[in-house]
Amino acid sequence: MGIVEEAFSRLFPEAAFAYAVHLRYSGRFKPYNATVRKVGSSLYFNLSRSWKSTSEEIVIGLIQHLLVKILRKERFLAAARDNSGKTSSLNMQLYDDFIKGISEVAAVNNGNGSSDESLESSFARVNEKYFLGIADKPNLRWGLDSFRKLASYDYHTNTITVSNLFRDAPQQLLDYLMYHELLHKKLKFSSSGNGRAVHHSREFRALEQNFDGNDTIEDELNAFIRGMTFFRKRSIKNRTFSWRRLLLLR
Ligand SMILES: [Zn+2]
Repeated sequence: MGIVEEAFSRLFPEAAFAYAVHLRYSGRFKPYNATVRKVGSSLYFNLSRSWKSTSEEIVIGLIQHLLVKILRKERFLAAARDNSGKTSSLNMQLYDDFIKGISEVAAVNNGNGSSDESLESSFARVNEKYFLGIADKPNLRWGLDSFRKLASYDYHTNTITVSNLFRDAPQQLLDYLMYHELLHKKLKFSSSGNGRAVHHSREFRALEQNFDGNDTIEDELNAFIRGMTFFRKRSIKNRTFSWRRLLLLR
């Protein structure tokens, strides 16, 4: 029995396994990443190569999470839920604990030019003020010019990414994003029903309120983003305008 079928039958002992499995390990993925696709009755699993050297019991938990996600419409899934409406297993808990654990031990690049001064000092300020100066520094990096994803914390690589739009933002805004993401690193996540992870728990929201200026920070953030959007649109419009003028001159 393959590892996917093993994972399936532990989770759904009553159900018949009726899938063709394609399991591939890829070196192109970020560490501990994984995806699944379903085409007809075929399941395509793509796992980061780092899973190859991980304990099989944990990989089974990973595959179970992916199975719950991809098979959410199947009838046998409802039968496997416990009283609280959760689908969970010992392996899935092992997996969750493992992911929380690797964020603690993932390598952090210290001062080899990969980090950035304003992110570094934002971390230092926030750590000092809200985490008694004892928070472990994650990897810090700028992301794309994203309006939709302002910042994120990746447990797999222990990295906080901040949208490139904030490079020249007021310090307070950058610190707020930093604080939010460091809370994710600190509190990790819990599982809810449907195998989904809860990232913004009640505890998270309560701690978020501790941020200095919390009452107005959302408005400031929105105003900043509106300003950026306006600036971007205007510069695009101007470019079109001068381009037209250029055509006329010719
Ligand atoms: Zn968040």
